[in-house]
Amino acid sequence: MILKKNLNLLIVIAFAIMCKTTASAEEAKAPWSIPVVNSKISTNVLYLPIADDRVKTIPIQDCDEVLIDLLVVNHPRIKSTISFDKRPQKKHSGYAHVRLGVYKKLLAMLDFLPKNVGIAYFEAFRPLSKQKQYFDRKFREILSKVQNKEIAYQEASKYVSPFIDNIPPHVTGAAIDMMLFVINGQREELMDMGTCSIAKNQHETFSEKTSKKQRENRLILLHAAIQAGFINYGFEWWHYSYGDKAWAYVKQQEAAIYGLIAAPNEIPSMDKDTYLKNFN
Ligand SMILES: [Zn+2]
Repeated sequence: MILKKNLNLLIVIAFAIMCKTTASAEEAKAPWSIPVVNSKISTNVLYLPIADDRVKTIPIQDCDEVLIDLLVVNHPRIKSTISFDKRPQKKHSGYAHVRLGVYKKLLAMLDFLPKNVGIAYFEAFRPLSKQKQYFDRKFREILSKVQNKEIAYQEASKYVSPFIDNIPPHVTGAAIDMMLFVINGQREELMDMGTCSIAKNQHETFSEKTSKKQRENRLILLHAAIQAGFINYGFEWWHYSYGDKAWAYVKQQEAAIYGLIAAPNEIPSMDKDTYLKNFN
């Protein structure tokens, strides 16, 4: 009798572990235990894939705010990563554009950072055509490994928001990919936050494959950005947003405040099945 009871208990525990493993495979990694991540930070991270139905179905009430060009603003503590890499880099036009509200959050962030630390951004606004290009590339890369279009589509959607039947955050001017730089007198250098590489497994905000320094630096960025009102995407330590669906989900808002910025002829009319069928 006791044996049977224990066996039942074991089955329940095994099932619970199995369910947890299945659920966590779908979600980004939970915060580290070392160093301790406070709840103000841990509750302002989106752990779901960006195009999860719970996020995607949130409505948008666009407040029609203008875009601000960070290159024109030219703030000494908000710089493009181009400033730190002398190699020629191709950036698409408008990559430094953010909605006015996002710009205000960036300024607010500076007050939560040490005075000798600034924000280095890779990319903010992205045209829909560019989004498609990025998605196709990620889809192709994953498809070559998994050989299954449906799985490749789901996986690619974690790292590049799909352009079909979805409003990707970078196309609304709500998102910015950023890291930090430190100013030492005349010298300015990027801080070590780890790489964006999926192969190295450092891309998730709370990746276990990070050094003590990288964790400290990520927490400095998280703290300043979240205090200012941004949310972070748990699959990408560098991706922050304000006013998009991901932000609305995390902040429990009824609607996002920034919608798609695209000409009507840019918006694809195909559905996912057609995309999968015709992709080669
Ligand atoms: Zn991003």
